[in-house]
Amino acid sequence: MLIDSHAHLSAPPLIDHAEEILQRAQQAHISAIVNICTDESSLEKGLILSQRHPWVYNAAAVTPHDAATHQNFLPLIRKHVSKLVAIGETGLDYYYEHSPKEKQLESLLTHFALAHDAKLPVVFHCRHAFDDLFAMADRQLKETPAVLHCFTGTLAEAKKCLERGWLVSLSGIVTFKKSVELQEVARFLPLDQMLIETDAPYLAPQSKRGKLNEPAYIAETARFIASLRGITVEELGAATSTNASIFFSFPKRSI
Ligand SMILES: [Zn+2]
Repeated sequence: MLIDSHAHLSAPPLIDHAEEILQRAQQAHISAIVNICTDESSLEKGLILSQRHPWVYNAAAVTPHDAATHQNFLPLIRKHVSKLVAIGETGLDYYYEHSPKEKQLESLLTHFALAHDAKLPVVFHCRHAFDDLFAMADRQLKETPAVLHCFTGTLAEAKKCLERGWLVSLSGIVTFKKSVELQEVARFLPLDQMLIETDAPYLAPQSKRGKLNEPAYIAETARFIASLRGITVEELGAATSTNASIFFSFPKRSI
């Protein structure tokens, strides 16, 4: 049993083939998917998907990339917040810096408040911005649980996430040959503080590189991490699925 804790199913290009993708995910023993909605259309389609497939759950937020341009997504998130399992992906991206830093920081604070009020966990996206993310979270995040999605930071940064009680989620990037430090992180993470994800349609694992990623491919990432740690894929799947179920408070039927 495996859970894909982060995929963009309800946006193009995956939404056009969502039914087949979900069928393949079931065949690959995926028991739940957290669909990350980043705009009005993907949230509306995500809600329809989860009505039809109760093992698909939705999270929503204005991404750090869109922080300067897409705050008008917030009213729709607020309207449907009771149907969400998390607020995300929010965070900071100083690598691309598609939105100015101050707008990203402002948006991050808005999402902290939203998560706190709705009693939902947050899903962080962070690139080249860990110092600011930690500083902001230490001041404002309070008791809200958090996961650092698609972690690509250093071992020291992973440790700082763990110290704060956050989960760290690994994507197919860990399977790439050049991801030496990330593989060290994958060996180091306590089994009860890690999640796995595809971040589909991006970042297909090594054997599928260059292809569109989809939740079924989480199996390759899970096998890879399990072998790094010297455990079975079943053990890794059970631990990460339990973590996801607790973190996102999935109803029992999905487990
Ligand atoms: Zn994402």
